[in-house]
Amino acid sequence: MALTNCKECNSEISDKAFDCPKCGAKLRKPERSFFGKIIKYTFIVFNLLMLLWFVTGVGSAAQTVDAAASEAEQAGAAIGTGIGAMLIITIWVFGDLILGIMTLLTRPKK
Ligand SMILES: [Zn+2]
Repeated sequence: MALTNCKECNSEISDKAFDCPKCGAKLRKPERSFFGKIIKYTFIVFNLLMLLWFVTGVGSAAQTVDAAASEAEQAGAAIGTGIGAMLIITIWVFGDLILGIMTLLTRPKK
């Protein structure tokens, strides 16, 4: 274990320390593990994809309903869009929950 000096109070501290035990100054950020980084980026990409899917899915479903369609067709399309949106949101919430827990579990440790 090598020793280094704190930038703030100049006391000798371990170079493995994340913050100074004397004055509490932040010395360096704890790094995420490689797996943790993958989870973190998967989480971000997943949310972007779900948002894209939600916007394009609901958007294209709404386009299929034109003014000439009968009331029954319009109602059917509205229900279809509702179920589709519900499905996307359900997958989104569950995916976020799983990835969120994994992100928490792979958080950098001090
Ligand atoms: Zn210090």
